[in-house]
Amino acid sequence: MTATLVVADHVLTGFGPDGAPEILEGGALLVEGDTIAAVGPAEALRRAHPEAHQIGGRGRVAIPGLVNAHHHVGLTPFQLGARDQPLELWFPERLAMRDVDPRLDTLYSAFEMLASGVTTVQHLHSRAPGDADAVVARADAVLGAYTEVGMRASYSFALRDQNRMIYAADEAFVASLPAALQGPTAAYLDAFALPLDEQIGVFHTLRARYGAEPLVAIQLAPSNLHWLSDAALEGTARAAEATGAPVHMHLLETPYQKEYAQRRTGGTALAFVDRFGLVNDRLTIGHGVWMTPDDVAMLAERGGCLCHNCSSNLRLKSGTADLNAYLAAGVPVALGIDEAGINDDRDMLQEMRLALTLHRPAGHDAPCPTAAQILRMATEHGAATTPFAGRIGRLAPGMLADVVLLDWPAVTWPWQDPSMPLVDVLVRRAKAGAVETVMVGGAVAYRQGAFAKVDRQAVLAEIAGTLAQPGSAAEAERRRLAGALMGPVRDFYRGWV
Ligand SMILES: [Zn+2]
Repeated sequence: MTATLVVADHVLTGFGPDGAPEILEGGALLVEGDTIAAVGPAEALRRAHPEAHQIGGRGRVAIPGLVNAHHHVGLTPFQLGARDQPLELWFPERLAMRDVDPRLDTLYSAFEMLASGVTTVQHLHSRAPGDADAVVARADAVLGAYTEVGMRASYSFALRDQNRMIYAADEAFVASLPAALQGPTAAYLDAFALPLDEQIGVFHTLRARYGAEPLVAIQLAPSNLHWLSDAALEGTARAAEATGAPVHMHLLETPYQKEYAQRRTGGTALAFVDRFGLVNDRLTIGHGVWMTPDDVAMLAERGGCLCHNCSSNLRLKSGTADLNAYLAAGVPVALGIDEAGINDDRDMLQEMRLALTLHRPAGHDAPCPTAAQILRMATEHGAATTPFAGRIGRLAPGMLADVVLLDWPAVTWPWQDPSMPLVDVLVRRAKAGAVETVMVGGAVAYRQGAFAKVDRQAVLAEIAGTLAQPGSAAEAERRRLAGALMGPVRDFYRGWV
C-alpha cells in the first residue's frame, strides 16, 4: 500500500473536551490508503517510514478538512436570474432560474468548496422534477460529479409532499389565481408531485447503490414542517429509525414559518416534530433562526445539532439566529453556506469569518463565539451532522484522511504578530488563495490552484457556452410565471407577521 507522510509546522488534530485546540508542533500524519495510520512527530514518522511519499513541509499548517453542512445547488440562484428575496417570495422568484446540467452544476460549486478547504458537503437535493427514475438519475449525476472531482458527499433527496409554493395547499393556491395562471402553475407544481412513499423509495435505492462507495453516504432530509404532512413526518421518522440514517431538516428559518407552526400545531415546530420521534441525536436542524429558548433546550437535551446558515439568513432576510444561545446550551453547531455566501460563492473560510464576526453583540460581557468554536463548527461538528460522523472532522489514527494544508506565509504575509493564537489567525485571516493542498480520503483532490482529476477551465467554459445560448421556451415560460406569481404569493402572507 502506498504511504504518504503529510508534514506541517503545526498540525491541528482537533479540539479537546474543553473546546481548546489540540496542536502538534513539527508533526506529521502517516496516510495509508484512505486512512490516517499514525499521527506523531515528523522526524520519528519519517525515520519509521522512509518509503513514504512526503507532501507539505516547512511553512505549512495542517487542519482537518472542512465540512459545508448545508448545500443545495451549484451555480447560484442569483447567477441564474433569481434576485435575493425574503424566503417565501424567493420560492416563486426561483422559477426565473436558468436550467443547468447537473454534472456541470455540481462541479462548479465543488471547485469553490475544495478551493476553500471543504472536503465534505452535505448536499440536500431540494428540487428534482419527474418520476422516481428521473430523481435517481439526477442524484447519480450529482454524486458522479463529486466522485469525479474527488470530494466527499453526504446526499439526501429532500422529502416534501405538500404546500409547494405557499404555506397552504397547492390546490387552494392554484384556485386563488387568475384563470390564465392556473393551468401553468398547476403544471409546474405537478412536476414535483412524486408520492412520498416513492420519495422514501429513492432514499432506499440510493443507499443500496452507494453503500460501497467510500466518498458517498446517503441520509434523510424531511425538507421543512410546512412541506410535510403528518403522514410524511411519520414515514420519515420510521425510515430514520429503521436505518439509523441521520436526518437534516430545515426548520424555523423565518418568522412566517414560526407563525405557520403556531397555526397548524398550536405550538412550536420543534415540539410538533418531536411527537413523531424525530428529535434525537440523529437530527440536525437547518437554520433554526426562530426557535424558542425551550426549543433550544430540548435540542440540547436530546443531543441534536444545529446547522447555522449565516450568509443565507442575511441574504433571504430570515433574521439572525442566536448562535450564542445555542453555544451556551451546548448544542453542537455546524456551518452551512446554503445556496450561496455573501460573495455569491461557496468560500467556507469566508463563511467562518462571517459567523465569527456577526455574533458579537454590544456589552463587554455579552457572549460571542471564539475562533476555536468557529473552526470546530466547520470541522468536528459539521462532521457530526453526516453519516461520516466519527470518521472525519479530526486528524487521528483510524480516521479518514481528509486534510487541508495551508500555506502559512501566504496566510500571514507580510506580517502577523506571533503573539496571536494560530487558530485566531487562521479564522480571521486565511483566504482561499492560501489553501495549498486538499486531500480527501488519502487522495490529493486539489493542489496549488489545480484540481487533480477535473479540468476546471474546461468545465467553466462549457457552462459559459451553454448558458450563453438563448433560454428554452420552457425556461421563458417559467420566468414569466415567476413574475406573475409574485403578487399572489405576497398577498397570501399579508397579516401573518
Ligand atoms: Zn437550505
